[in-house]
Amino acid sequence: MIFGMFGGKNNDDDDDEDDEEERELCSFQGALNGNVVDMKANVRLAQAGLIPAKEIVTDAIERRAETVRVDIKGERGSSTFYIDGVAFAGAKMPRPQTVAITQMLKVLCGLDPKSKQPQAGGVKAEFQGIPYEVTIDTAPQPDGTERLTARLRNLKIKIGTMEEAGFSAATKAQVRELTSQKKGLILIAGGPGSGVTTTAFAFLRGIDLFQYAAFTIVDMGSREVYNVQAFEPKPEDDLKQTYERIIRSEADVIFSEPIKTADIAKAGAGAADRCCVMGEMPAKDAATAVAQLTQLVGDPQQVSEVFAAAYSTKLIRLLCPACKEAFRPNPKLLAKVGLPPETKVLYRKPEPEPDEKTGELPDPCEKCNDVGYIGRTPMLELITASEGMRKLIATGATADQIKVQARTEGMLTFHKDGLRIVAEGKTSLEELQRLFKTA
Ligand SMILES: [Zn+2]
Repeated sequence: MIFGMFGGKNNDDDDDEDDEEERELCSFQGALNGNVVDMKANVRLAQAGLIPAKEIVTDAIERRAETVRVDIKGERGSSTFYIDGVAFAGAKMPRPQTVAITQMLKVLCGLDPKSKQPQAGGVKAEFQGIPYEVTIDTAPQPDGTERLTARLRNLKIKIGTMEEAGFSAATKAQVRELTSQKKGLILIAGGPGSGVTTTAFAFLRGIDLFQYAAFTIVDMGSREVYNVQAFEPKPEDDLKQTYERIIRSEADVIFSEPIKTADIAKAGAGAADRCCVMGEMPAKDAATAVAQLTQLVGDPQQVSEVFAAAYSTKLIRLLCPACKEAFRPNPKLLAKVGLPPETKVLYRKPEPEPDEKTGELPDPCEKCNDVGYIGRTPMLELITASEGMRKLIATGATADQIKVQARTEGMLTFHKDGLRIVAEGKTSLEELQRLFKTA
């Protein structure tokens, strides 16, 4: 049984059972793959698994988790909630219940509950009037059990403007400047879970789309980006020919598919001498993205000519505004981390202190459940096409060489941008350190 919002903790209140009965749970509303979910054929499974499956998804929504993992070890099952990218242990469960949750979610997603092959699917859900999309994948484990990973997306949250996504006015101005050039390749790099897609779409919204025409052949899904025109490729055209057609229809900006293959990279580089091409690149940082682009295109000289900028993002957690604690940093600390000596105040997550008399801990923060952080904001790294950088790229430089050049020229690094966010009081030094440790 899963207890309330605080997964791991067991609530000892007498009225616990009443709470459980009255608890509002999410509802499931159909598999994303369109398969009809036959509950009648799965009556016993539904008896064992439907409520626990609803409970675990509701727990995830209430805890603001973006991902939940369900594992089995021996006779026990366990859940792990990922909140703003950080793992928190959830409740332990008996093995049969854990198996039932996994199989039930498979049924709800229109998948085969019995098959232990890796499967992926999704189900629509609703909680308190808000629609969600829950996508799952299952993976067989060496011990014969299965691991379930469920990801949640609140469909009410639309892609924000650049400001809403946490970017500064200066970054927005720079993106506008770059995209108004009618040429040049802009990469937006990030690893899995870095928020790179959200960033790419926010950048797209950062373009002055009343002045400049942007086209894309990317399926925008449920995302709305105003004034970006969907371009329908002709079936007989390859990507290069499609881009030529887009350029002929007076495009200023082409929003590329994620640049993962040589074909996509070559088509983008080929168009970027007459049109701004912007696309996501799966890479851990900006320097790696540039080196990867050179490799995919296979022509360092061409890349050095069309390269305009490579941004990279990483998400950093924001301190909870309700419980963050101010402190006066000592000069040694400031010097050590590289903050200006005149910095008067920084913030951190509070350490709850037990009451002197009773020894009891204070009530948890209502806003963040004592996580100390709520939501995330992007840190940016940027490599621009300075003369020195172009010359280096033309030699087919490695990511490390590009990194050194960017540092020498004082380009924006994650560390610098992270310190800015710390100095603004939005996050803590501990959070910045955590990100660099896990990187
Ligand atoms: Zn708080």
